[in-house]
Amino acid sequence: MRLSRPKRLLALIGLVALLGLGLPACLEHFAAPSPLLGLRGDTALEGKARGWVRAFEDDLLGQPLIDVHAHLAGRGRESNCWMNPRMENPLRPLDFFRGRIFSAAGLPDKDAPDVAWIDHLAQLSSAMPFAARHHVLPFDQRYDQQGRANPEGSDFFVPNDWALFAQERHPKQLVAAASIHPLRSDSLDELRRVAARGVRVVKWLPSAQGIELGDKRLLPFYAETARLGVWLLIHTGTEGAVGEIDQNHLNNPLLVRAALDGGAKVIVGHCAAGGLARDLDDPSLPMVPAVDLFLRLLDERGGEGRLLGDISTICNVNHFAVALPAILSRPDLHGMLVNGSDWPLPAVGPLIMLWPLERAGFLDKGDREVLQGVFASNPLLFEVLLKSRVHLPESQLRLDPVVFRARPELGLE
Ligand SMILES: [Zn+2]
Repeated sequence: MRLSRPKRLLALIGLVALLGLGLPACLEHFAAPSPLLGLRGDTALEGKARGWVRAFEDDLLGQPLIDVHAHLAGRGRESNCWMNPRMENPLRPLDFFRGRIFSAAGLPDKDAPDVAWIDHLAQLSSAMPFAARHHVLPFDQRYDQQGRANPEGSDFFVPNDWALFAQERHPKQLVAAASIHPLRSDSLDELRRVAARGVRVVKWLPSAQGIELGDKRLLPFYAETARLGVWLLIHTGTEGAVGEIDQNHLNNPLLVRAALDGGAKVIVGHCAAGGLARDLDDPSLPMVPAVDLFLRLLDERGGEGRLLGDISTICNVNHFAVALPAILSRPDLHGMLVNGSDWPLPAVGPLIMLWPLERAGFLDKGDREVLQGVFASNPLLFEVLLKSRVHLPESQLRLDPVVFRARPELGLE
């Protein structure tokens, strides 16, 4: 059937309206609906799930579960957090969609104050059957090469004091991290200030914040993190959720060498699980999976004791096919991996799909239904249990439990 011109135009307008308004509203429901209502201090677990949790707890050897990668965000009520207005503009459907879905996942209801995000995370955590410590991550603005803040180019902002507040409010579950753009004129002062308050992790997302790891002007910052015993948690791999897609080359895992050469200790975010990157050792080659470059870096520099990788998002629908075989088949490196949830992404249903994992052989038959039940009651527990269950197809090779245990060097006992 061929549509007349006006009808085609109408259909196009309809489609745009659907994408711009209907789809985000609809997809928002995929985000776990405020599971707090169903929680009473203890997440309800049945049969198989209960057995998995017991085994997982045994593997923790009495230590808390570590989660080095949990995001904070907010709309500014009492917190001084903000979101770029374009994230709330339905005429910018993609930005609007991102803003809506992350708010829906992190906040139990639309009009909740910012503190509800923090309480939500802490309550989900305390409802897990074992103790857990989550590094809560603020998010600094984008800065230009002259060190000037660029709020228009930033998707959102979360001040360091908001993470410190979160830690004070829930000291058993939440550990404050910081985010400091190294070209800020007060970057070293701010680093010393938060380090004096106990912060041991500083988060960077190079493509979104405009950070070039090889910039020589970063050397004093690297040196100061080393002196203070602070780790840099640097996002690597393709970033689709935040910032400019054309800046993704800044997230190349091999660029982390510059930070290591500068003396810094680095946690490579997501083990570079997402997308392709240029092999900087031979740029004439076609792009390769970024995770392969991360593993090369670990082989090269892991022995120095200043390099870790966080395993958040390795099971995500757009990452698992490449990231899981690459990481699961290198048990010799698991001692240098550390757990991260990338909260609130585990609560965004479509980002982690179980049936493709089962179909590809990473999950056993029947595990999917059990994990679905856990998701419905506690998406935070679901995410970590899933990572403890996935194995190489046709093999029982899983992540070494050491990945999930607290690490004293990250400020955790
Ligand atoms: Zn993240």
